[in-house]
Amino acid sequence: MSVVDLRSDTVTRPTAAMREAMMAAELGDDVFGDDPTVHRLQDRLAALLGKEAALFVSSGTQSNLLALISHCERGDEYLAGQMAHCYRYEGGGAAILGSIQPQPLPQQADGTLALADIAGAIKPIDPHFARTKLLCLENTWNGQPLMLDYLDAATALARQHGLATHLDGARLFNAAVATAAGGDPYAAARRIVAEFDSVSVCLSKGLGAPVGSVLCGSKALIERAHRWRKVLGGGMRQVGLLAAAGLHALDHHVARLADDHALAQRLAQGLAGINGLSVRSASTNIVFVDVAEGRGAVLLEHLAARGILATGLIGLRFVTHLDVDAAGIDRTLAAVREFFALPVGAHARAATAAAPY
Ligand SMILES: *Cc1c(COP(=O)(O)O)cnc(C)c1O
Repeated sequence: MSVVDLRSDTVTRPTAAMREAMMAAELGDDVFGDDPTVHRLQDRLAALLGKEAALFVSSGTQSNLLALISHCERGDEYLAGQMAHCYRYEGGGAAILGSIQPQPLPQQADGTLALADIAGAIKPIDPHFARTKLLCLENTWNGQPLMLDYLDAATALARQHGLATHLDGARLFNAAVATAAGGDPYAAARRIVAEFDSVSVCLSKGLGAPVGSVLCGSKALIERAHRWRKVLGGGMRQVGLLAAAGLHALDHHVARLADDHALAQRLAQGLAGINGLSVRSASTNIVFVDVAEGRGAVLLEHLAARGILATGLIGLRFVTHLDVDAAGIDRTLAAVREFFALPVGAHARAATAAAPY
């Protein structure tokens, strides 16, 4: 049975063409600065996003951490959403390794931080307070692209108070493809990040590379990040092997994100017609559903038994990507319909099995 893996867009396997590009990559020792493919990737993404410089790193978490500790110093603080990846899901790295205090702010339903909350959280210069240095936003947020006028207003507010700005753009190109609406996604990406001092992009999510993220920003910022990357043990040698996958992804896997978005809509529309669950949000390549009567865990198990993987408990998350096709989405819809067509008691055994969750 083939598996329809909708847990995340990180589960993609490199395509044959991507593997060929990797095997053909010109390599060198990147700690000596000798790897031409790494330079090509960094220069390409910096130029593409309108920033001075870029740094290829191992993961989105490392990229965000490098941004935080390169913008801030010991005793500084950064503002981020209560549910932002760089606050909640990165092990507290900035506090542990940078002695930087996070100031989490409530996240609105659309992923934005209210401008009044941002302004209210910026501390006066006073020995009682940490020094507020940085505003971090995330785009896409749970699959939802943030509006351009919001990004402009939030970055302007930050600048007005002397704060730097960082965008966690793990899925920046999903936001770009959605914003471009058929136009040039690269231009859309450049526009989204235009007012940010730094941006982190994951190559290993919807873009389909096996490993890697890129941090982009000013030359001075990237020099600091380069130093910290070495300190964190992130200096890698013939890593052009991986950078080649990223270059291939930027050339071939950006415009096609529209296909993932269309499949997410197909899934959301199908799910919306099923009694027993409701679609909470469905933007770009991520669909969230709420399952009635706490049956989420049992539904997940029912799907897994049919080779369909998703994540969540009360609310389930389905993510489309390069390795999912329309047949997989239709199989998913059929399996969900089958689940809700059966009487509740039919799942009793599965429910008991799911209890430890
Ligand atoms: C996945 C993700 C990251 C972290 O990327 P890893 O490569 O898994 O470390 C950071 N921010 C957001 C918004 C993400 O979705």
